[in-house]
Amino acid sequence: MKSAESESTKIECPYCGYKMPIKRDKNAVCKGLYVQCKARNCKKNFEIRINAEIK
Ligand SMILES: [Zn+2]
Repeated sequence: MKSAESESTKIECPYCGYKMPIKRDKNAVCKGLYVQCKARNCKKNFEIRINAEIK
C-alpha cells in the first residue's frame, strides 16, 4: 500500500516531537549521530539511532 516516497520518514525530536529537516528511509542504519533540536523551546541534543544492532 505504501508508495516508495512514504518510506522516507522525517526524524522527530524525542523530547518535543519537532520534525527535523532530516529524512531516513526504512532501511537506514544509524547510531552515535547527535543532532540538536531546532525547535525554539527545546534545543536538546539527541542521538539519531535507527536499526542499530545491539551486541
Ligand atoms: Zn525538540
